[in-house]
Amino acid sequence: MTSIDYRELYIDGGWRTPATGTTITVHSPTTEQPIGSVPAAAPQDIDRAVGAARAAFDDPRGWSTWHPKERAEALERFATELESRSAETALRVSLQNGMPIWLAEQFEGGFPAVLLRYFAQLMIDTPEVDERAGMLGGTARITRHPIGVVGAVVPWNVPQAISFLKLAPALAAGCTVVLKPAEETVLDAFLMAEAAEAAGLPAGVLNVVPGGRDIGAYLVEHPGVDKVSFTGSTAAGRKIAETCGRLLRPVTLELGGKSAAILLDDVDLDASLESLFGVTFLNNGQICWLNTRVLAPRSRYEQVVDALTDLARSLKIGDPLDPATKIGPLVSARQRERVESYIAQGRREGARLTTGGRRPAGFDSGYFMEPTIFADLDNSATVAREEIFGPVLSVIPFTDEDEAIAIANDSDYGLGGSVWSSDVERAANLAARVQSGTIGVNHYTNDPVAPFGGIKSSGMGRELGPEGLHTFQHIRTVYLPPAV
Ligand code: NAD
Repeated sequence: MTSIDYRELYIDGGWRTPATGTTITVHSPTTEQPIGSVPAAAPQDIDRAVGAARAAFDDPRGWSTWHPKERAEALERFATELESRSAETALRVSLQNGMPIWLAEQFEGGFPAVLLRYFAQLMIDTPEVDERAGMLGGTARITRHPIGVVGAVVPWNVPQAISFLKLAPALAAGCTVVLKPAEETVLDAFLMAEAAEAAGLPAGVLNVVPGGRDIGAYLVEHPGVDKVSFTGSTAAGRKIAETCGRLLRPVTLELGGKSAAILLDDVDLDASLESLFGVTFLNNGQICWLNTRVLAPRSRYEQVVDALTDLARSLKIGDPLDPATKIGPLVSARQRERVESYIAQGRREGARLTTGGRRPAGFDSGYFMEPTIFADLDNSATVAREEIFGPVLSVIPFTDEDEAIAIANDSDYGLGGSVWSSDVERAANLAARVQSGTIGVNHYTNDPVAPFGGIKSSGMGRELGPEGLHTFQHIRTVYLPPAV
């Protein structure tokens, strides 16, 4: 396979020579071999990117002043260019982070164009002015305006879809963006930059500057940035929140999770197993909203443990580029060590490991881990409290619905979750009692029309839906006098 190498950075609408010769080399988590490289952005490159985004935003006839329909036309071209690269995008993501290719095709190849079209249309459909008859006489005229230059910092686990949770609403609203991808997944971000260039997005509207946490922190703190949108770990989110608090800079934080799937006593286990896979082991366990705690009624506890154990054993582990693969490698050696240390901790604390817990046999290379299930533990166990970010589930028993809710809510996090039952209304009523930003009934899907985000240590602010658009807008009120 030929190496994918870039020598320049996409800044101000073109490919620019980076300030330094430092490069980021990307390794395949499957072969552990290098697969490509890009220049690492230095602070001077961030300055240049933010300067370009600032100039594009402040241009009196530029992007931020265009009618939503004009921006929609440009974003439609961007969507089309992304679609013509969708297979390559999915391939690059899968090569870089081990995401099974069938999932990469949906999430990474397909979703970005959907999001661009959704937010472009939402801007067109939203009335430009909201006039309210005042209670004290006169009229209040309320308008929304693009918030300015956005610094977007994203992780490696679902890099394209997460980038477009930010880019699509920000660009549709009229903002300009400096995107900092994670070092593990830069090759797909450069393909996105090629699509932006081919679509003719005006210079400075989108800039891509890869680097590690220092360069991310530099971008977050940059005086030319008006709004920060971050997805990543809770630890990094806290630091970013501190910076933005000091600067009084608006910030959206999508952070970690430890969500619960509550299986009620009337759940049809056989019919639910495929969907349960989708909320537990998807993307090798590396998604923030996954339900890594499975709460099972005591009356059916052993049955649930057995069914999940069988499910975990049935999942094909292998090359993520093989369409039959359900579990690919973890993103890095460091991530696998982290997962292994949690598994060791679970054992030390006395949980029963029903399957997994090891590196699978038969692989000469790759950061693979077997899907792993812990049973006979309660919600105080470390593996039930902390985000592991790997294919490790804790199956916790409950006696009645009140106890299930108490366990689900006994978490530092509140991002996703699900309730499973043959009675949809019963499940929906219970779901409403779970303290979480989002929750599913018998499935879980982040639909573009509905707000997504967390409470507690899972973050603040929302992406998707009109709420996700509003985070990239300022509100202005003009008090009009009473008519004479
Ligand atoms: P991470 O926080 O280490 O890194 C995420 C991104 O932030 C990377 O681009 C990194 O370079 C950058 N970064 C790190 N520290 C920074 C700092 N102090 N200032 C500025 N930028 C900084 O997270 P990760 O390990 O790459 O990703 C996994 C985490 O992301 C998990 O905790 C997962 O739950 C979370 N996540 C959350 C969501 C969500 O929507 N809530 C989605 C996906 C992943």
